[in-house]
Amino acid sequence: MARLALVTGGARGLGAAISIALKNAGYRVVAVDVNEQTGKEFTEASGIPVYLVDVSDFNATKEGIAKIVADHGPIEIVVNNAGITRDAFLHKMTVEQWDAVIKVNLSSMFNVTRQVIESMRASGFGRIINISSVNGQVGQFGQANYSAAKAGVLGFTRAVAQEGAAKGITVNAICPGYINTEMVAKIDAKVLASIVAKIPTGRLGEPKEIARTVVFLAADEAQFVNGATFSINGAQFTT
Ligand code: NAD
Repeated sequence: MARLALVTGGARGLGAAISIALKNAGYRVVAVDVNEQTGKEFTEASGIPVYLVDVSDFNATKEGIAKIVADHGPIEIVVNNAGITRDAFLHKMTVEQWDAVIKVNLSSMFNVTRQVIESMRASGFGRIINISSVNGQVGQFGQANYSAAKAGVLGFTRAVAQEGAAKGITVNAICPGYINTEMVAKIDAKVLASIVAKIPTGRLGEPKEIARTVVFLAADEAQFVNGATFSINGAQFTT
């Protein structure tokens, strides 16, 4: 049977493109999301089941993933993609804005990965692909919460990569630059134009351009690619 992949925040934007690309590559795919309507529409369009799971909540994630495993079997590939922004300069940022971004973007890495890591270790195979951001690498005005969470994702990736390497598990991070999704559509038009002006490729990235790297990392053959960070940003910034 084809390997089972789980994509968080998988009903829209990058997550939807990743879910579809993995399905097209022959994997069985399940998505989780918090947006019921988007989830329904995505399942109708793609045939990919979407479970309603808030990955910022440890117990809800534990329960949701247990149901997915009961319905579909052990999860062998995880794409930790769910993320939000709550932008504000630090001197105006509320504790609610800070906590929400840390919980959805960073704590979710633990909440989700903790549920699957034991079965991956037992089976001797696992692929964990974490979506960070260029703004976790360089920082960004108005995004102390988001930049901190996304930088945290990189540390999490490298630590868990070391722990799982001898057990056939790889853990890698992708740092997208600015990609054409609803998250970016929220940015003020003038600010966005000034951002695009600084991208050497001269345009936003497309979700499928990130999904392509996810499919590469999910492959059985990608075993030695481990603990790495992939910057995909149109030459905006490279490590
Ligand atoms: P998006 O807002 O279009 O989609 C995010 C999806 O995650 C939505 O379907 C949303 O309902 C879901 N989600 C939000 N909170 C959730 C939760 N608690 N539990 C489960 N699902 C939840 O965003 P996007 O642009 O597709 O971004 C996807 C990921 O890529 C995020 O982690 C984001 O930070 C990262 N990223 C995006 C860009 C970009 O330019 N779009 C750049 C760098 C990194």
